[in-house]
Amino acid sequence: MMQSELDNQFMQEAIASAKKAELQGEVPVGAVVVYEGKIVATGHNQPIAQHDPTAHAEIAALRAAAEVLGNYRLPGCTLYVTLEPCAMCAGAMLHARLARVVYGAADPKTGACGSVINLFAEEKLNHHTTITGGVLAEECGQLLRDFFIQRRAQAIHESLTADHSQKH
Ligand code: ZN
Repeated sequence: MMQSELDNQFMQEAIASAKKAELQGEVPVGAVVVYEGKIVATGHNQPIAQHDPTAHAEIAALRAAAEVLGNYRLPGCTLYVTLEPCAMCAGAMLHARLARVVYGAADPKTGACGSVINLFAEEKLNHHTTITGGVLAEECGQLLRDFFIQRRAQAIHESLTADHSQKH
């Protein structure tokens, strides 16, 4: 199978993981870590449920992969994530010495793979990790857009309901 087909296939798994976050009312971002052609760990965004600002999908997947492989470094691993990693997650990936990071949608607000800054391009920091962006970007981004549209509609509905109940 070609690399791009494999990338699409593993990104589909990251999307499945993102949908788990969505079901819990969390911003739908999902990640998987692949080692020797197999998924060894998955993670999804859950900062609200965990009361943890660091509970991003990538951090969860990195922790689980390191646990499974019994190594705090993940040199032969590729991490797939549906959204461009933030600076915190990019920092964790550098510490893990990941071989490769593949992301879906770009994040113009917090993306640290080129959208806001590019930590991976900093030669003083990184000699280990290659980046591929834009894999199934449309599908990954649509998941996020749908989530925020739905959340906005829900907020409007709740404020209307609150107004209504105050009148009685
Ligand atoms: Zn992050």
